[in-house]
Amino acid sequence: MMTVSTFQLLDGKRCGEALRARIAQEAAAVKAARGRAPHLAAVLVGNDGASRTYVESKVKACESVGFRSTLIRLPESTSEDELLVRVKQMNRDKELDGYIVQLPVPAHIDPEKVTLAIAADKDVDGFHPENIGRMVLGQPCFLPATPSGIVELLRFNHIETAGKHAVVVGRSHIVGTPMSILLSRNAYPGNCTVTIAHSRTRDLPSITRQADILVVAAGRPEMITADMVKDGAVVVDVGIHRVPDTSRKSGFRLIGDVKFDEVAPKCAWITPVPGGVGPMTITSLLLNTLKAAQR
Ligand code: NAD
Repeated sequence: MMTVSTFQLLDGKRCGEALRARIAQEAAAVKAARGRAPHLAAVLVGNDGASRTYVESKVKACESVGFRSTLIRLPESTSEDELLVRVKQMNRDKELDGYIVQLPVPAHIDPEKVTLAIAADKDVDGFHPENIGRMVLGQPCFLPATPSGIVELLRFNHIETAGKHAVVVGRSHIVGTPMSILLSRNAYPGNCTVTIAHSRTRDLPSITRQADILVVAAGRPEMITADMVKDGAVVVDVGIHRVPDTSRKSGFRLIGDVKFDEVAPKCAWITPVPGGVGPMTITSLLLNTLKAAQR
């Protein structure tokens, strides 16, 4: 079989920058109309290093588009009741358009209780059952950031999706499952025939090889190898993993769930890691916050 040797990058950095320029314009219009900028708050409980990095980059992204942002740091010892009290305060706060509670929360706090307590109209992460239900029914809602960012990345690059076979590897509530719903809905991007693969799937390679569009969110470093991908496929790599690299100042580099070097030459389009899905996830959070402020 022939191998496609010239692949194109699904560049999340470039797409994110273009969308953020539009968000900044609309944020300025919101500010002019009602006297205050869109306002996002992020709650971080405890000292998890990765969570701190994620939250800080979300706050920085807010600043880059002229949003107001508030970072609320709570100690690891914060009880579930104390956190729920804060959540209820934020639900009532008229100066706040949307907020997120960064997951994971410490083990003594039930994340489901927290998600349920967040007012659906401020749930810019799109994790509340009301928003998930609305997404399934195709009603106005906040879409979960990562799958919605992938949809925007496909749209920005005019990727044809109708009638394609999309395979989503992973069925988490925040990535794989909503991704499968968005790709199958009657819209663009969408109208795919979708297969969801997961940890109990038998003979994964025979399924991924059927994918015109392959979205991988399994959290397994470089699990997708060239023999698992069809020639000319569109590959979206959601995975993100730090691996030690002494040649770098940071001491590590980032890799995805896809073995990029060997898979890319077979693809029509592929996301890099970093610079693919990651920047789009944050951009989607900004889009949701803008939407909340415009209502
Ligand atoms: P998760 O651990 O909640 O879910 C992983 C899913 O993969 C599960 O449904 C599991 O059934 C499936 N799976 C695991 N091993 C498998 C295998 N061998 N074959 C088939 N399926 C398998 O993970 P998640 O929260 O969905 O995140 C997935 C990855 O994406 C992680 O690496 C995470 O760090 C990354 N992530 C990145 C972004 C971003 O913005 N770039 C956002 C969210 C998650």
